[in-house]
Amino acid sequence: METKVENAKNILAKVTATRFNKEGQQEIMITLDESIIGYQLERYTNGIGELYGEFTLFDNRIITAQQRKKIHAILSDIVKSTSGIKNTYDVESIKEDMKLIFCDLKGIDDFSTSELTGSCTVTIASEFITFLLNFCLEYGVPLSDPPVELAEDLKHQLIKCLYERKCAVCWKPGMVYQVSTTGAKKVEGRHELMCLCNDHYQEAESIGHKAFASKQHVLGILMNQEQYMKLKNKR
Ligand SMILES: [Zn+2]
Repeated sequence: METKVENAKNILAKVTATRFNKEGQQEIMITLDESIIGYQLERYTNGIGELYGEFTLFDNRIITAQQRKKIHAILSDIVKSTSGIKNTYDVESIKEDMKLIFCDLKGIDDFSTSELTGSCTVTIASEFITFLLNFCLEYGVPLSDPPVELAEDLKHQLIKCLYERKCAVCWKPGMVYQVSTTGAKKVEGRHELMCLCNDHYQEAESIGHKAFASKQHVLGILMNQEQYMKLKNKR
């Protein structure tokens, strides 16, 4: 592995062409915003004359209509769950509060979920949805839509369900079960796990784990012994 040079140059670049070479590797042509002076190139070259760098792609895609719908649906559910409290919130004020906490946590600037301003990328929207779902899972906010359909990062959500002891399908209180949804061979010290409520556990047992997983769009989470013990000892 190449060592990263401290204070390495960070240059903005535009991808101008892309192709595959004979070995099937992708090659991209980039146009740099500013030139690298000859001696700087030498400075970063290794002993055998090779030059390495890191390539980061920026997300220029703007929040999708489906993501906006999800955000609105989750916020509406949060509003519903606070309806007994005085100073009842509305969707807009909850959204502003949640964005404030989220931006602070991520260390990013405030954004608007309107597609018109272009300040919310697909990545930010996706992370915001995950953040809202985590909140609902932790505080037991009932969701109107199936949690699995709202998920932007299903694996993350299923792991969170395991730790919170909430059913992967319906988010009711559940228990951690050893399952076999992936068809992976049983290996000593490796566990395939899913948190399920009693009803969904019964269903999984009656139709079979694999059929259950494809019907409910969930999957077992593989954990090694160390991760499994950590999970077991939680609470
Ligand atoms: Zn359930």
